[in-house]
Amino acid sequence: MSVILLGTAACGGEDQPAGTEFEWRVDRFDDIQVLRYRVPDFDSLSLEDKMLVYYLSRAALCGRDILFDQNCRYNLPVRRTLEAIYENAEADRSCGQWPAFEKYLKKVWFANGVHHHYSGDKFIPEFGEDYFDTLVASTPAAKFPDDYGTPDELIAIVRRVIFDPEFMPVRVNQQEGADMLLTSAMNYYEGVSQKEAERFYERMADPRDNTPVSYGLNSKLVMGEDGKPVEMVWKIGGMYSPAVEKIVYWLEKALEYANPVQKASIEKLISFYATGDLVEFDQFNILWVQDTLSTVDYVCCFTEVYGDPLGLKASWESMINFKNIEATRRPETISANAQWFEDNSPIDDRFKKKEVKGVSAKVINAAMLGGDCYPSTPIGVNLPNADWIRRDYGSKSVTIQNITDAYDQAARGNGFLEEFMLRAEDRERIEKYGSLADNLHTDLHECLGHGSGQLAPGVKGDELKNYGSALEEARADLFALYYIADPKLMELGLVPSMDVGKAEYARYIMNGMMTQLVRIEPGKNVEQAHMRNRKLICEWCYEQGRADNVIEKVVENGKTYVVVNDFDRLRELFGRLLKEVQRIKSTGDLAAGRALVEKYGVRVDPELHGELLERYAALDIAPYSGFINPVYNPVMDNGNIVDIQIEYPESYVDQMMEYSRHWSYLPSKN
Ligand code: ZN
Repeated sequence: MSVILLGTAACGGEDQPAGTEFEWRVDRFDDIQVLRYRVPDFDSLSLEDKMLVYYLSRAALCGRDILFDQNCRYNLPVRRTLEAIYENAEADRSCGQWPAFEKYLKKVWFANGVHHHYSGDKFIPEFGEDYFDTLVASTPAAKFPDDYGTPDELIAIVRRVIFDPEFMPVRVNQQEGADMLLTSAMNYYEGVSQKEAERFYERMADPRDNTPVSYGLNSKLVMGEDGKPVEMVWKIGGMYSPAVEKIVYWLEKALEYANPVQKASIEKLISFYATGDLVEFDQFNILWVQDTLSTVDYVCCFTEVYGDPLGLKASWESMINFKNIEATRRPETISANAQWFEDNSPIDDRFKKKEVKGVSAKVINAAMLGGDCYPSTPIGVNLPNADWIRRDYGSKSVTIQNITDAYDQAARGNGFLEEFMLRAEDRERIEKYGSLADNLHTDLHECLGHGSGQLAPGVKGDELKNYGSALEEARADLFALYYIADPKLMELGLVPSMDVGKAEYARYIMNGMMTQLVRIEPGKNVEQAHMRNRKLICEWCYEQGRADNVIEKVVENGKTYVVVNDFDRLRELFGRLLKEVQRIKSTGDLAAGRALVEKYGVRVDPELHGELLERYAALDIAPYSGFINPVYNPVMDNGNIVDIQIEYPESYVDQMMEYSRHWSYLPSKN
């Protein structure tokens, strides 16, 4: 819910001004490309705000070890052993198995551990155990970490983690039937079964409490000596204390440059790190979410719970950022006109909200990424996560413009559009307006789509069961699709041309019917809610408009394409489907909802799928991207900082080694 990941494989962007050569991609290995992002407008911040960004950014770098340890309790000794070899081994680095060893280390850095950052599967090394032993033998013993038992014990466990495929094979196992905790490699529980953990937290929760704390969020649950589970709380004086102390140190420095509103939230956060009291965590979030006016903002705590099979314990992450004032006018305008959009929506009048409030949304530039936002980072976030705080105080919905821009720029010229989009006019519109269309779609989806409409009396909202999230995403997407081609957007000054809508339609149909399938393994069906939603919308419109050829499948030179022939009719179809999906949600019509998803959103045509996978593979595009951070250098005069200058480093390996050397605070065993 709270993290928005990049949904499309590629799209166009604004033209790069001539003479500004900037190398976006700094590394490429396995299924990964590492990019850089720029921080536009940093120079125009006030010195106070620059200082605030500078000190918060240092806090952002202090939690990297926490995440490594949270992902698996052997990650830190593995990383440090590999780094010791990387720096000190006497080995021929140009040939043999060295490149495979280096690739493995790059993957471990990228995933913050030995499991793939997205799939959660453990990496399979492409170098042999014998080779590993020769590397160890040629590395001076004193270079290995000395805080993980004897040297032999250290190497034995590192070898087992890397080479034994049966040992901790997945980070998060959510397969039904298995004990999800005992079969997952994540380090949020130890020696505690799923039943024991569930009982432990069920006993804490009071079902009548409508402002519950986020039980278990900031601790590891371990089996105590008395045979009862006990929480090891992440706080000063508790687990992860050495790293938490550093985070707090820099947060305290940042306080000096914070305005009173920021000061209140940062002080509360510091206090939470000191006590570990989850009531203070909620108080912090309430202060934080109400600060919508400050330029500089931050995430710097235990935040998302995707890494815990039970969804309780939060990984540490950080994103320091500041408002992109120019781009923020877009979601602000949309939110300010929320009632007009609701009133003119093609849904049944009885399902329209009489009074609708757009979600407060802003566009930001990321200035520093840390923990679970680094190197792989979301393109948007919506926080805080506690439902009752969202209900009572709202949430901040944020799109990260400089990260999306970097994705766009790096995707230019990768051949994707040329391969999958048949018509030159569609490609040109996407080159020109694809970036804006993407951003507008996200704004309409997030600021209005999810919040629009109302349930019929007596309907609770959970009637659609496991089809609920795909249908909810479809509802928000259809809202966005319907309005992105509305003349109202021209009137509001949000689009310079109706071609923006056409660009979005052509891209959406291509993605929903074809290109998103490249993320699916051969023989599998569509499972993920966002993907089901896109497929269902496109396939339904294809079928409904078939008599008039609204969307057409074209085969040329043995390659399949889909093209939109009639943009106006397609918009009508989006409106009709929006009306139906809203009816399904408002009345809780499970049978109709299930039929829609099952008929249009799930099944993959194996022949088309095979063709798409082959064409995509030939492009050799890295499916996953991540980023290295800029560096902020203080400019001194007479012992005072008079400015902060930004620098964009060029080496992924150097940044990783630098962080491991100078921003690493935890022992190998926690
Ligand atoms: Zn959504």
